[in-house]
Amino acid sequence: MSLTIVQHPLLAVALTELRNHQTPPVLFRRALHRAGLLIGAESLKEVQVEPMTVETPLTSTKGMALADGHVVLLPILRAGLGFVEALLELVPNAGVGHIGLKRDHVTLEPKQYYENIPTPLTGKNIFIVDPMLATGHSACAAIERIKEQKDFQSLSLITLLAAPEGVRELTSRHPEVRIFTGSLDEKLNEKGYIVPGLGDAGDRFFGTL
Ligand code: URA
Repeated sequence: MSLTIVQHPLLAVALTELRNHQTPPVLFRRALHRAGLLIGAESLKEVQVEPMTVETPLTSTKGMALADGHVVLLPILRAGLGFVEALLELVPNAGVGHIGLKRDHVTLEPKQYYENIPTPLTGKNIFIVDPMLATGHSACAAIERIKEQKDFQSLSLITLLAAPEGVRELTSRHPEVRIFTGSLDEKLNEKGYIVPGLGDAGDRFFGTL
């Protein structure tokens, strides 16, 4: 199992703003963007770069450029969209796929209603993006769809908050998937919400409360 809980004082500040029930959508979006940059930077530490030469106003020196698009972001709709802009800021040449999974509020099981994944995934490093790892069922459903295409390079999950239940589910079913999160929260409540959490991430991001 690989669980990285990203540590950064600016992430702690963003998380506090996101958890605060009084934070309006406009500030929630900005805080989620900042959190996405900080968690994304850690998740993408092994991104492939290539040496190059750059001309400064004074001389030429060594630099690095992103290698050609080997990163694919796969946000789970809707809330995953909240991280995409920040991640694309870090890796502008990433491919972006989408997978729509809606949680049935009674069974808490995900139902897929949309999918558009760039193919082929040969050699790609895939980052499934979902700010909330709650039961782990949606993340597992997305991972299982990807695993049907066998020749990708690596699979990771980028999330803002994780519940221990979701981490257990994911690591028991897909131990090779690396998980990056901003916080390992306490538990899930009886409705499947992360506690202390921040409520419904999609609703708070899109202002659909
Ligand atoms: N999805 C959310 O948006 N919030 C939770 O707490 C759990 C799942």
